[in-house]
Amino acid sequence: MRSLVVHLGIGANLDDPVATLTEAVVAIGQIPGWAVMQVSPLYRTRPVGLLEQPEFFNAAVALHATLPPEPAAAALEVLARVKELERVFGRVPSVRFGPRRLDIDIIAMEDVAVVHPRPLGTEPDGPDAERPLVVPHPSATERLFVLAPLADISPNLQAPGWAGTARELRDRQRRIEGDDAAICVGAWDVGALRWV
Ligand code: ADP
Ligand code: MG
Repeated sequence: MRSLVVHLGIGANLDDPVATLTEAVVAIGQIPGWAVMQVSPLYRTRPVGLLEQPEFFNAAVALHATLPPEPAAAALEVLARVKELERVFGRVPSVRFGPRRLDIDIIAMEDVAVVHPRPLGTEPDGPDAERPLVVPHPSATERLFVLAPLADISPNLQAPGWAGTARELRDRQRRIEGDDAAICVGAWDVGALRWV
C-alpha cells in the first residue's frame, strides 16, 4: 500500500445540495484509510449541457488515501468508494449532465494516469456501466465548476497531461465561461464542519 493525495470534485443540485455536500465531506473523511486535508470554498455553478435544471453547487476535496501501489488498482478502489458514497446519498442514475443528488468525480491522483476499459461492478445497471474509468478526469480542464474550487486549494497542481496548473487552467476557463459561471458562496469552516 502507498499513501496518495487524491483530489475529488463533488457536486449536487437536487433536494438540499449544500446539506448533501456538507454530509458528503464528512462521509469522505470517515472512509477507513482516508484523511481529508483540505476542503475548498463552495461554489454556485451554472449547469453544463442540460440548462433546464436547478443550479449546481460544487466543491473540491484534497485527501490522503492509503491505496494499492498499482495505479489502475488504486484508481479502481477510489472509484468503488466514491460510487458507494453516491449510492448512499441516493444518486439516481439518470442522463449524463442531468440532475443528481451527489456526483463525485476523481479529478486527479498525483502521478496516476489510468484508462481502464470498464470498471466492472461499479455500476452494473446504470447508464455509465460501459464508460471507462479515466484518471485524471478527462473533462476537468474544461469545467470551471471543477477548476475554480480546485485552484483554491491546490493552485499549483498539474495533473498528468494537463497543459498548465490548476490556477492557470482556472483563469483560462474563467475567461471562456464568464465570472457568473461559478460564484463563491462560502468558505469551509474546519471547526464547524460546514461552509460559512
Ligand atoms: P462526468 O464524468 O462527465 O462527470 P458522470 O458523473 O455522469 O459524468 O459520469 C460518471 C461515470 O463516469 C462513473 O460512473 C464512472 O463509471 C465514469 N468515470 C470515468 N472516469 C471517472 C472519474 N475520473 N471520476 C468519476 N467517474 C468516472
Ligand atoms: Mg461526474
